[in-house]
Amino acid sequence: NKPKLVAGNWKMNTTLSEGIALLESIIKGVKLLKTNTKIAIAPPFTHLSEFRKALKNTDVCLAAQNVSDKLQGAFTGEISALMLKDLGVKKAIVAHSERRQYFGETNESALFKIKTLLKQDIHPIYCVGELLEDRERERHFEVVEEQITTVLYQLTEEKLPKLTIAYEPVWAIGTGKTATPEQANEMHEFIRAVIAKRFGEDLAGQVMILYGGSVNSGNASALMAQPQIDGALVGGASLKAEEFIAIIKAAG
Ligand code: 13P
Repeated sequence: NKPKLVAGNWKMNTTLSEGIALLESIIKGVKLLKTNTKIAIAPPFTHLSEFRKALKNTDVCLAAQNVSDKLQGAFTGEISALMLKDLGVKKAIVAHSERRQYFGETNESALFKIKTLLKQDIHPIYCVGELLEDRERERHFEVVEEQITTVLYQLTEEKLPKLTIAYEPVWAIGTGKTATPEQANEMHEFIRAVIAKRFGEDLAGQVMILYGGSVNSGNASALMAQPQIDGALVGGASLKAEEFIAIIKAAG
């Protein structure tokens, strides 16, 4: 069994000093755990440099919440993969549903972002997931299939093992409504089959597929016990050290 990955997406929360205090309690909690689970934290960009220092000699990996699809130049307000690499960032979230909903990101821009990250050897966490209306109209498989094929099918096979997918049904994000473990597992299985169709079972099996959407200490064990769920991308519950540690524990 491959080790699971639990990643905390802090979104636009915490000042730097609040963030450092939270990070320190998480590091303390992680040290007391015996776990195989890999851990990543994606704080706001403004925290990355300080967090890199705090994470030295820990097993917690530094992640970013977003990246520009350009490498450098006149793109005011953007942060490039090159800059992230320079700060010791190992993973970056791409095309989170909030980026898709509020900032106009698309499958096309996600592909560019993933390519620039991979060039810097930063591992993308590519987010997919359907809206409530997609699920109500039973279009959820179709929507996710398109999010997967338009992006992953453009990559060469040696890149695949560096990629993590996060399945985050939009109706479950920040709503307290989780997908049932069975609903999540079913979609993860579908995603893996779509990847396998192009790249074969073996490579598809190497891609980590995380579940995200109202994961907390109460529902984590049941979700993590599903055979196709390789970990969690946690929003709100990653802002409380105890909750986050409990989720890591539940992952094994
Ligand atoms: P919540 O865990 O707050 O629902 O957020 C999930 C998410 O968007 C993680 O990226």
